[in-house]
Amino acid sequence: MADWPIGVFTSIDAGLGVQLDVARELNIPTIQLHAPARSSRTPDNAERFLAKLDDLGIALTAVFGGFDGESYADIPTVVETVGLVPPSTRADRLQEMREISDFARLLGCDVVALHLGFVPHDTTEPMYQEVIEVTRQLCDHASQNDQAVHLETGQETADALLAFIRDTQRDNLFINFDPANMILYGTGEPIEALQQVGSYVRSVHCKDASWSDQPGKTWGQEMPLGEGQVDIERYLTTLKDIGYLGPLTIEREIPQEPERQKQEIGHASELLARLSKKILG
Ligand code: MG
Repeated sequence: MADWPIGVFTSIDAGLGVQLDVARELNIPTIQLHAPARSSRTPDNAERFLAKLDDLGIALTAVFGGFDGESYADIPTVVETVGLVPPSTRADRLQEMREISDFARLLGCDVVALHLGFVPHDTTEPMYQEVIEVTRQLCDHASQNDQAVHLETGQETADALLAFIRDTQRDNLFINFDPANMILYGTGEPIEALQQVGSYVRSVHCKDASWSDQPGKTWGQEMPLGEGQVDIERYLTTLKDIGYLGPLTIEREIPQEPERQKQEIGHASELLARLSKKILG
């Protein structure tokens, strides 16, 4: 695979990502996949999906887990509902992530990724150890499938994320870096954060956003790539500096406006191609 192949975040059934056809129409050679619902995660479906990817010449680079009951309505709701952190759903969701890992294996994919949720900031809280423990269990399952686990960034500062990864003590735990999330959640300047966590970054999202006037309390706003406050050229230059040459996966989460979503992903793809040429030569 060439350095910095363009990618796009996709969904098979309902989900935040675009349909596979959009990747084909825009000539995007790699995808990350939002895991389909449990009823669709069958060996038959895996085989069909693989055949389709093969047909289109598209490479699958990561499978993202997500769960029923998650809501990104506002930041407090994310704390309550997202990922493996909320105690009441933790056991079921761990089991579901194991199944998603098994499905990803059927798809020949060696990366599973997820939003872990808001890890407690106070590392002496019992909940912190509990989240470490569930992450270890997930990493150990993924390891049996020869997979790495990538944590999506945004809900933690770079310092907290580094401490969490080190405390988890698993050698297949890495980061899917999303610069826009750092802005949306108000957890830090994305470029500085990327420099800090660089050695753990094994996949990335190309997404842009502008800061909230109350960072950490209310959402910032997701923007078309290049129009927000990430500074995409500096983002790519920094990715080069940390030695990251993997896929540049575009994420644009406006599934309610599919036409605009496709158009903006097309623009993002052109922007990334132009900047890649400039930066990598
Ligand atoms: Mg993302």
